Amino acid sequence: MGGVALRRNLVLFGPPGSGKGTQAELLRERYELDHIAPGDMLRQHLSQGTELGQMASGYMAAGKLVPDEVIVNMIRHRLEEGRADAGFVLDGFPRTVAQARALQELLTNLDRPLDIVLVLDVPVSALKARLTLRAGQEQRQDDRPEVIEERLRVYRERTEPVLEYLAGDVPVLHIDGSSSIEEVGRELLSLLQ
Ligand code: AMP
Repeated sequence: MGGVALRRNLVLFGPPGSGKGTQAELLRERYELDHIAPGDMLRQHLSQGTELGQMASGYMAAGKLVPDEVIVNMIRHRLEEGRADAGFVLDGFPRTVAQARALQELLTNLDRPLDIVLVLDVPVSALKARLTLRAGQEQRQDDRPEVIEERLRVYRERTEPVLEYLAGDVPVLHIDGSSSIEEVGRELLSLLQ
C-alpha cells in the first residue's frame, strides 16, 4: 500500500533522543515524504570514509555541531536532487539560527515553503535514559554520557532559539514526545490530517 501523495513540507524538531528519526520514518511512509536527516547523511559519509566524513567526525564524536556552511551545502544538494513535487520531512535540521535563515532562503528560491514545524517535547531525564539505552543498542560514539551532556547543552544554547526564529513565519506545534512510539505517531498523524 502506498502512502497518500500530499505535498507537506515539515520540520520535525526536538532534542537528541526525542524520537525524531523514528517518527520521521513513519511520516515518510505515510505521506511519501523525502526524509532528510543530516545526521544520517554524515554517518554514511563517515562509514564510507569520504573527505566530508573525515572532516565531520571530530565534531560528531565530541557532540558538537558540524559547521553551518557544510551542513547547508549538503541540504541544498539533497533538496535540489529530490523530487520537487513531493513533500519533505527535515529531521535534525535546522539546528542553528544561521541554518534556519539559509533554509528559508533556499526554500523560497525553490518555491517549496515550510508548512509546519512539529516539536517533540521530552523531559531531560527521559532523554538521558533513552540515549543511554541507545548507546548499548547501536554503536554510536556520541551516545557516551559526557557526549550526551554536550549534545543536550548544544541543543539548549544553539538549537532551541531556532524555534522562536521559525515561529515568525511558520506554525509551530508542540507534541508530548514522552509516550510510546505508537502514541506519539498517532498524535503526529492526527495533527497532519
Ligand atoms: P543526529 O543524528 O541528528 O543526532 O546528528 C548526529 C551529529 O551530526 C550531531 O551531533 C552533529 O555533530 C552532526 N549534525 C547533524 N545535524 C547537524 C546540523 N543540522 N548542524 C550541525 N551538525 C549536525
